[in-house]
Amino acid sequence: MILPPQTPTARDVVLIGGGHAHVQVLRAFAMRPMPGVRVTLLASPSHTPYSGMLPGYIAGHHGYDEVHIDLRQLAQRCGARFIGDEAVGLDQDTRHVHCARYPDIRYDVLSINIGSSPNLGGVPGASSHAIAVKPIAAFNQAWQRMLATLPAMAAPGPITVVGGGAGGVELVLAMAHRLRHERERAGHNPQDLRFALVTSSDSVLPTHNARVRSTLTHILQQQGIALHTAAAVTQVQPDHLQLSNGTTLPSVHTLWATQAVAAPWLQHTHLALDEQGFIQVQPTLQTLNDERVFAVGDVASLVTQPLAKAGVFAVRMGQPLARNLQRVLQGKKPQPYRPQTQWLALLGTGPRHAVASRGRWFAQGAWVWHWKVWLDRRFMRRFTHMPAMGKAPSKPLPETASHPTLAPHEQAALAQAQAMRCGGCAAKVGADILSRALHGLQPVARPEVLAGLDQADDAAVLALPAQQVWVQSVDFFRAFTDDPFVLGQVAANHALGDLYAMGATPHSAQAIVTLPPGLPEPTEDTLRLLMHGALQVLNQAHCTLVGGHTAEGVEVGIGFVVNGTLPSANATGMRQNALQPGQALVLTKPLGTGVLWAAHGLGQGVGRWLDEALDCMRLSNQQASAICRSMGATACTDVTGFGLLGHAHQMAQASRQRVAIWMNQVPALSGALECFEQGLHSSLQPANERRVTAWAIDQALPKAYLQLGLDPQTAGGLLASVPAGQAAACVLALRHAGYTQAAIVGEVLAPQAGAPLLQVGQR
Ligand SMILES: Cc1cc2nc3c(=O)[nH]c(=O)nc-3n(C[C@H](O)[C@H](O)[C@H](O)COP(=O)(O)OP(=O)(O)OC[C@H]3O[C@@H](n4cnc5c(N)ncnc54)[C@H](O)[C@@H]3O)c2cc1C
Repeated sequence: MILPPQTPTARDVVLIGGGHAHVQVLRAFAMRPMPGVRVTLLASPSHTPYSGMLPGYIAGHHGYDEVHIDLRQLAQRCGARFIGDEAVGLDQDTRHVHCARYPDIRYDVLSINIGSSPNLGGVPGASSHAIAVKPIAAFNQAWQRMLATLPAMAAPGPITVVGGGAGGVELVLAMAHRLRHERERAGHNPQDLRFALVTSSDSVLPTHNARVRSTLTHILQQQGIALHTAAAVTQVQPDHLQLSNGTTLPSVHTLWATQAVAAPWLQHTHLALDEQGFIQVQPTLQTLNDERVFAVGDVASLVTQPLAKAGVFAVRMGQPLARNLQRVLQGKKPQPYRPQTQWLALLGTGPRHAVASRGRWFAQGAWVWHWKVWLDRRFMRRFTHMPAMGKAPSKPLPETASHPTLAPHEQAALAQAQAMRCGGCAAKVGADILSRALHGLQPVARPEVLAGLDQADDAAVLALPAQQVWVQSVDFFRAFTDDPFVLGQVAANHALGDLYAMGATPHSAQAIVTLPPGLPEPTEDTLRLLMHGALQVLNQAHCTLVGGHTAEGVEVGIGFVVNGTLPSANATGMRQNALQPGQALVLTKPLGTGVLWAAHGLGQGVGRWLDEALDCMRLSNQQASAICRSMGATACTDVTGFGLLGHAHQMAQASRQRVAIWMNQVPALSGALECFEQGLHSSLQPANERRVTAWAIDQALPKAYLQLGLDPQTAGGLLASVPAGQAAACVLALRHAGYTQAAIVGEVLAPQAGAPLLQVGQR
């Protein structure tokens, strides 16, 4: 078989952090795609705040989604790969980023835009008793707790913000405005809430002009916010602060918005850093001692001109960074970035009012606020209302085209990878790529493996464990995500689901992988990540990988043959054909993975919905299987391609019983029902829907519920029939074990001549 040629990945651009500059880089690469260049965004969490709108969010003028950029979705729309993890280190020699949970990520060109955090170090008690305003996600959680408790509390303790820069001043004014408003709404005296601002400078906003400083000082006084200037915090206790001027300031909630420090992990890289630990960059935004690495925003320290740690610079660096990354990839000289000497700051004061500051210029009023909102929303619209741009064209480069960034031997390899491909054994991935990618994989040891992955042979040799029978299953699917590590994890989990549904114990597995043709390094990298993800899951299940096969294909695909065991004395395990009338049906995981990934593919998903869906897909059915069995489950299946209803029907048919499913009791992943209501569905859904005619459907059932029941699942939960008297205890045990949305979703009914096997309704 001859496969069509594709544009292989020739260069990897990795962006660490979803800061203000990198979101623009994603957009720029989508608008000016470079064939053969793969862009990866490594960021955590998947929603990043736009700093300009944060005070408005805290003050209650904007909602969460208005002030956050959904990085997972933006990357998808821009045709970039998204990896939801944190960088924790760098190997500049081998060009790999070390991650907190993910295997190393290879890069050709790297850019770092990870912001900064307030300096909690050096002041005793600060890291234990103060809440840093960054990272914003952690701060937001603390803020939500304050919002939920303080407005109605009989005696709310005093609140202090430490730091008199723009961030600290805006924060204290926004918090005071919102909390007092909420307290009034809760029927309490808003003035019970006491606020203070502490700064070691002689005045607030020391870098702004005199009118800005005096106006904000006056506004703080008007709002009853106690201002402590020229006072450094020397100690933080749970209920008070010790100040350098001898004052003991009562403070139960202490927020930290002081001068920024850089991430500690940068110290362990070979990048040149300034005294505060920020990455030193040249005007081209390349780091001083490694031209393959760029740094921007708060984390960068421009050696030719010190810049304030303000979002405005991170925003302004976005375009020059994108241009320079592309120039470097094209083998051209990067151009210098020229920062402005003065910049406009628009400072919110709590209500819909703001102060403008630029050099010696000052203005204030409601109109400044509305201007600020207009500017901020215009910026955000570029990332929230962006059409899906897709990936770089996948047509082959013209024969005469040369890739300016590739060495001659790489040009040759690229041309070979792009040439018409042969099938059969000629479509095997090269042995050198295989051996490098699989190097270091360590499957769990099993005494029954007589010849496995560590011995080069034609086949694996396994001894049958004593008193056991084999249970075997195979699964394979195309990539639903362009994150190979996650794909490997989910595919392995999905394959093991069949064993758990049978009540079997996983034993061994063989992998089958397809990879599109490409240059050796990116191909090797994809295979390495796929297999690391898969092995992590297989090893946790004590399932040993004994072999596999890797072939070229039009796209990434992965599957497994999995072997499990059951004691010969109880070789029936849990089967689909063992439903008994009167039993309750328990579902262990929520539904919706099919529609959520379909929405994501169309650029219409929401990052946090997908994060939740991924966590669910990675959740093993191992414990669920054991719990259901211990509660007397006789029949079980894992919910996959046919959807809950299709699988329930299959069980009813095999058992010659009838089944009722109560769709309003079926748990749904966040966003799944919304997606159906918007008319979205997985491409397999229509095939599943064709089976509905044979079922009894409650006509009052909302359409989205029915669609949820037909949604094909990847690595879905178990549907198990347990004795009715055990069902509540079973659900409780499941929830306790981490299947937090497990539920009783139906019952097994006695057979009745002529009646449909499946009743779909509500309870
Ligand atoms: C309350 C408050 C209000 C502010 N208001 C303004 C304002 O109105 N105007 C203004 O100009 N500035 C303002 N600032 C300052 C502004 O927030 C920062 O200067 C700005 O956010 C820096 O942008 P950045 O792109 O460098 O990084 P960030 O915006 O901090 O983005 C960094 C991103 O990288 C992610 N990340 C961090 N570490 C890692 C890692 N190791 N691996 C992967 N991802 C990582 C983070 O989660 C984040 O998504 C304010 C600050 C505060 C605290």
